[in-house]
Amino acid sequence: MGFFSTILDLIFPPKCVFCSKVLDRADEGWCDDCTESLPYADDMGKQDGEVFDFCVSPLYYTGAARRSILRYKFRGASHYADVYGKLLAESIRDNPDIKYDLISWVPLSYKRERSRGYDQAMLLALSTALALDDVAVETLRKPIEAQAQSELGDKAQRSANISGAFVASDEELIAGKRVLLIDDVVTTCSTLEECARVLLSAGASGVVCAALARGE
Ligand SMILES: [Zn+2]
Repeated sequence: MGFFSTILDLIFPPKCVFCSKVLDRADEGWCDDCTESLPYADDMGKQDGEVFDFCVSPLYYTGAARRSILRYKFRGASHYADVYGKLLAESIRDNPDIKYDLISWVPLSYKRERSRGYDQAMLLALSTALALDDVAVETLRKPIEAQAQSELGDKAQRSANISGAFVASDEELIAGKRVLLIDDVVTTCSTLEECARVLLSAGASGVVCAALARGE
């Protein structure tokens, strides 16, 4: 811990990413109370996919986890990615069934990334990969803006909305590889299914997914 980071900690004390309580130095980005009370998903939040193998999620998208992710996605708290990445890396490491050759993410459209200033799933993938001593690489792009999935109702509507929205960015990179696809929140899995479909048609040999939080 250097002099300047000590000064910075005094001016901007690190806070729990979930409840915003000021943290002790020893804390890893979230507080003891949240460690006890976070909405941890049962069975690692495992959901089977149709196109992808399965998706794991350490948290349910509710309560303090949901409020924190909303600040991360919509209120500029992009630095939460460091803490989220450690949490997600832990659930990937703890699940020996997750086999992959490269780590990637579900991209935002260019338009949305410009208006938000950052791609939250990309930041999450980069920090998760870092915590796994790996790197994350771009495999998909989203040239067109679909309507936000959160504005739509059932799975059929969401699947239709997202169909054709993604393209593979580098088929040579993807060919024959198992891709670990990272996203922040997974609800109906329509987006992950569509991304997996595009990756498999581009030559990927399999897709497995991890999201920070899932619907209950
Ligand atoms: Zn907390």
